[in-house]
Amino acid sequence: MLRAAVKQGTPLGRKAKDQMDKGELLGDDLIMEMVAERLQESDVRARGFVLDGCPRTVAQAEQLAAILTPYDLDLVIDLEVHTSQVLRRLAARRVCVDCGANYSTSSPPLINWTCDVCGGEVIQREDDTEEAISRRLELYEHQTAPLIEWYRARKQLETVAGTGTPDTVTRRMVKVIEERRNRGIGFA
Ligand SMILES: [Zn+2]
Repeated sequence: MLRAAVKQGTPLGRKAKDQMDKGELLGDDLIMEMVAERLQESDVRARGFVLDGCPRTVAQAEQLAAILTPYDLDLVIDLEVHTSQVLRRLAARRVCVDCGANYSTSSPPLINWTCDVCGGEVIQREDDTEEAISRRLELYEHQTAPLIEWYRARKQLETVAGTGTPDTVTRRMVKVIEERRNRGIGFA
């Protein structure tokens, strides 16, 4: 969503890029304005949606709840990964500048840092430097971690270990979703 706005150079996109280049989390209003716009499109109504990395603050979560009224989120998944592993993953992460596909130094694209999906250039993000990463982790502790209690209190939270291969983590998430659905919670 962000990438599309940044690439198109929309007013929201330009503001977002400026803040991301500094390693800052985006302002709540900016993020939620983009989310509100996207959630109005017809595919959301037909198929539902997954938000990845949003909301990141309690203020965003409150705005999201207001946007979704009279509906609500079926489930919030907290992927738990130890900080030392987060640091290793971020330092090794490489992304496609065009489509945003993720790679790492240990699983690069097939051909010389050219994206397998779209042929775009695969690079290290400007905000994946050591300094910007420490700043993001600090912001996470102060601004995002409180969301865990916020969603737990609303009985929307499930915690899943984010360690292991992508397939392993995916299987864990599917299991949690199925169990919750079988218990008839959410998923109207
Ligand atoms: Zn690509």
